[in-house]
Amino acid sequence: MQPVYSSTAIHGQKGDSMRNTQATQPLFKLSKPGRRAARMPACDVPTMPVEKLLPPEALAAEPPALPELAEPDVVRHFTNLSTLNMSVDTHFYPLGSCTMKYNPKRNERLVSLPGMADLHPYQPDDTLQGLLRLLWELQEMLAEIGGLKAVSLQPAAGAHGELTALLVARAYFRHLRQPRTRVLAPDSAHGTNPASAAVAGFESVTVKSTPRGFVDLEDLQSKLDDRVAVFMITNPNTLGMFDQQIRHIADMVHAAGGLIYLDGANMNAILGISRPGDFGADMMHYNPHKTFSGPHGGGGPGAGPIAVREMLEPYLPVPVVVHEGERFGLEYDRPHSIGRVRSFFGNVGVLVRAYCYLRTHGPEGLRRVSENAVLNANYLLSRLKHRFDVPQGDRCMHEFVASAARLKAERGVSAMDLAKRLLDYGFHAPTVYFPPIVREAMMIEPTETESLETLNAFAETLLAITDESPDLLRSAPHSTCISRPDEVQAARKPVLTGGA
Ligand SMILES: *Cc1c(COP(=O)(O)O)cnc(C)c1O
Repeated sequence: MQPVYSSTAIHGQKGDSMRNTQATQPLFKLSKPGRRAARMPACDVPTMPVEKLLPPEALAAEPPALPELAEPDVVRHFTNLSTLNMSVDTHFYPLGSCTMKYNPKRNERLVSLPGMADLHPYQPDDTLQGLLRLLWELQEMLAEIGGLKAVSLQPAAGAHGELTALLVARAYFRHLRQPRTRVLAPDSAHGTNPASAAVAGFESVTVKSTPRGFVDLEDLQSKLDDRVAVFMITNPNTLGMFDQQIRHIADMVHAAGGLIYLDGANMNAILGISRPGDFGADMMHYNPHKTFSGPHGGGGPGAGPIAVREMLEPYLPVPVVVHEGERFGLEYDRPHSIGRVRSFFGNVGVLVRAYCYLRTHGPEGLRRVSENAVLNANYLLSRLKHRFDVPQGDRCMHEFVASAARLKAERGVSAMDLAKRLLDYGFHAPTVYFPPIVREAMMIEPTETESLETLNAFAETLLAITDESPDLLRSAPHSTCISRPDEVQAARKPVLTGGA
């Protein structure tokens, strides 16, 4: 068949193979003794041997075995390496749950301004007034969007926000002298929810979902007692469905004395439309790197600000950004605080980008972001649903979970095969095999920043791929420099020498 290429660059065409091989050679292998990036004129000021400047214990016996290279070797190496990965700037990236929207370059420029980038966290507050004001305003905006009273910008990622909020809940119940030991989460929850509960010292208990993907109220009720501290819920959930029982669920949990934690990873669907605090949440986190366009992937950076209801405010981590009149400062003196969860002020670079994003869109613009994210997801769903079952129905929020189970039964082709084959056509794969309650799951989140043309190209490609020969699909991708690594081994025993 004729590949339907996306309008963006095509990943790893045949002609790239030379470049790919070179880029995967480690710099140590390219080293030639004596090769240098630059040759400077002889120094015309007196030199000082390093032995005179540093104590002996700070000096290595041998100089480190660094590779010796010319500047073009280094630039080509890293530039070529950077092209081996897909990115939001080069490819459509419908990785469900991760909200891989376009990262506006304007925000990168603003965060690189010397007044931002050259600040040092040890500077006196008086010289940081601009940044502190910006962070304070961000706290206010996040409180407003969430419908909750108080915000901490400290946590360094969504999962870290979950952990921080659960520690806040623990401190709250300890203060009330209630020994609550359990945290509940639905079986559709992101793995970080039960993991955070365990790290925070709680026992994690799973609540069943109904076939439509909503919380099974009977199962929830049977697990609610005075051992339950928190029910963690993602809404819209990881199936891309808004659980309209949420107000009722919150009433049930509150009646049992527990708190509602809202995993805010899916806030992209409801910005300016509905607020967690209004539908019953007591605490939540944001993923600014998802919802507010911070560049992410490859392990970071992220941030995970949390927002909480008034009664939980005293337990927030320190410092909190506060102001008196026109003066902004960091408050550390909070006797009930759980203490520090991160150094300095949090991941400021990500927070500043989030601030720029929020100010760029404004309240009306944010609502349009969510409306368009939901529209794009529903458009893709409607183009794909005749070929893929979507067990949770034919309407979704900002993402949906399609199942390749029928295709697997009919043609022996799995969700993983489709995901891998998409790479050959210049599309990043959707999230596959999550959430685990859908067989052969493909979780597709286009985001609001994609054009109709890109959505059409993706849908046409995915549909066309389903007709390709099963052998071709099962051995895909065919155009990348590595086809199907053993993902477990690759993580546990990475080969860093490029010897293969
Ligand atoms: C991404 C995500 C998280 C974790 O957030 P990180 O910032 O990656 O730590 C938690 N829950 C859901 C539903 C997510 O999609």
